[in-house]
Amino acid sequence: MSIRTRTTVTELLNYFGRCPRCGYPASARVAQHQYSDGTSEREIIATCGLPCGWSGPVPMRSMTGLHA
Ligand SMILES: [Zn+2]
Repeated sequence: MSIRTRTTVTELLNYFGRCPRCGYPASARVAQHQYSDGTSEREIIATCGLPCGWSGPVPMRSMTGLHA
């Protein structure tokens, strides 16, 4: 079993998704997880721009300027 050794979080400035609950524009961060076996995993976590409380992982969508 691999252990998550490090997580680096970067703000996604060009995310244009919306909150699935209230439809308000959401902001997003990219979490890069590093594992003990050398692999890494990327996760995009969006957070609602209004305090409706929603926050969750979202699929990667078309974002210009994001270098994968
Ligand atoms: Zn919301």
